[in-house]
Amino acid sequence: MNQARKCINSLKAYNPGLIRAKYKLDANESPYDLPVAYKDRILKRMRKIEFNRYPDPYARELREAVAKKNKVGPDNIFFGNGSDEIINYVLQAFCGPGGTVIIPVPTFEMYRIAGVINGNRVIEIPLDKDFDLDDKKIIACADKTRAKFIFIAFPNNPTGNCFSYEKILNIISSVAAFVVVDEAYLEFSGKTFLRHLKRHKNLIIFRTFSKLYSAAIRLGYMIADRKIIDTVNKVRLPYNINSFSQAAALELLKMGRYTAEKADIIVKEREKLYAALKGHYVIQKSDANFLFIKMKQNAGTCRKYFQKNGFSIRIFKSGHSRGWMRLTIGRPEENEAVLKILTRSVE
Ligand code: PMP
Repeated sequence: MNQARKCINSLKAYNPGLIRAKYKLDANESPYDLPVAYKDRILKRMRKIEFNRYPDPYARELREAVAKKNKVGPDNIFFGNGSDEIINYVLQAFCGPGGTVIIPVPTFEMYRIAGVINGNRVIEIPLDKDFDLDDKKIIACADKTRAKFIFIAFPNNPTGNCFSYEKILNIISSVAAFVVVDEAYLEFSGKTFLRHLKRHKNLIIFRTFSKLYSAAIRLGYMIADRKIIDTVNKVRLPYNINSFSQAAALELLKMGRYTAEKADIIVKEREKLYAALKGHYVIQKSDANFLFIKMKQNAGTCRKYFQKNGFSIRIFKSGHSRGWMRLTIGRPEENEAVLKILTRSVE
C-alpha cells in the first residue's frame, strides 16, 4: 500500500549524479580543495571542540563574524545546513499548505521541490527568450494569487546569467510576497541586493559557503529583517549547524585572500571557455561558475560520450532546460580537456 502523501508521490528522490569522475564538473563546486596548511588551521580549531556536547544552537561566534563581513547585525543572520535547508524553513514558517510560491523557470530545482513537499501551490513562469524575468507577469500573478513567496536565483541556476537588476527591484517593490534573492554565486557575479534590505522588508537574501569556500561543511545563510529571522527560528531544528561546520566556517572566513584569488581564476577561466565555445555552440553568457550550453546531440548520446571520456556534467533531458547541459568551470587543465572534447564531434 502506498502510504506517502499525495504530493510526495510526484517527486523523485534527489539524484546527485556520479560521485566519482575524473573530471567532476556537475555540481558547481569549487575545483580547488583547500591547501593542507589551511586544513590544519581548521583541524586545530576542531580539536578544541567538546565532542560530547551539542553545538551552539545559535552559532553565536559565527553569526558575529558573518554579520561583520556583510555589515549587518547578528540578528539579521540565519544559518542553514546548506541554503537548501533554509528554503524549506522559510516555506514552513510563512507558507502553509495551499500557499502560493512563484518561480521563474528554468531555475534551481529545490525551490519547486521544497514547495511541493510543503504542500504549496508552485506556479512556474517561463523566462523570456534571453533568459530574463517576465517581471510584469510575475507581479500580476503574485497579485492575483496572493503569493507568499517568489524565488529568484541571482545569478540563475542553470542558465548562469543575472536577471535584470531593475526588473527584480520592480518585483520587490510591487508585491506583498516575500522575494528571496538567492545569491549563491555572488563571488562570481559581484552583484548583490544587500543595500536594498533596509528599505524593503519583504526582501530575503540567501548566501552559501558551498560554491567557493567549502561544499563539504554544508553551510548556507539568510540575511533578512530581524522579524523574519525570529519567525524562521521557530521552525528551525535546535542544533542544525554542527560544531565542526561552525569551526570550519570561522577559519574559512579568515582565508579571504585565498578564496578571492580562486574566484578570480574561475571567472577568468569562465570567460576563456565561453569565448572558445561561442563559435561552436548556442551558449549563455554567465555570471556564475558554470556555463549553460545547448546540446547538439540527444541527452543519452551526450551523457554516454562524456562518461566515456571521464567527465561528469549536468545534462537536462526533461523539464524546462531540456536539450541543454550545464558545465561547472574547473581548473585550467580540466577546462582545456573539456574544451577539447566539446569541440570534437560527438560520435
Ligand atoms: N541556490 C542555488 C541557486 C544553487 O544553485 C544552489 C546549489 N546548487 C543552492 C542554492 C544550494 O546551496 P547549498 O549547498 O548551500 O544548499
